[in-house]
Amino acid sequence: MDCIFCKIISGKAPAAIIYRDELVIAFRDIHPVARTHILVVPNRHISSLNELATTDEVLVGHMVMVAKELAAQEGVAEHGYRLMINTGVHGGQTIQHLHVHLIAGKLARFLLG
Ligand code: AMP
Ligand code: ZN
Repeated sequence: MDCIFCKIISGKAPAAIIYRDELVIAFRDIHPVARTHILVVPNRHISSLNELATTDEVLVGHMVMVAKELAAQEGVAEHGYRLMINTGVHGGQTIQHLHVHLIAGKLARFLLG
């Protein structure tokens, strides 16, 4: 499958990886829209929120918890940040592998995509 995020997960494409565990990986967005812009991505290929099953609840909760921990690690927890999951064409999704954006700092542009 020609998925850039799967390639990053398998080490076949480069990325600034800042966290990984058995369920997720987190790396810096290649085109940051703010000073902190990190993507939290499931290791398993899931195309979007639309493809999630009820059995993925633990995974989704874990993605949010990892994002929260990384916000603290980045030193942005106190001042605040946003989590965003773009879904589908009208949702501005450009990479068809589920990911949570962790964005903090003054935005370079308000919306992604
Ligand atoms: P979305 O538009 O929500 O699908 O977000 C996809 C994000 O992935 C965009 O913010 C891109 O800048 C980012 N992106 C695309 N390719 C890479 C890559 N090779 N490494 C890191 N981030 C990437
Ligand atoms: Zn993938």
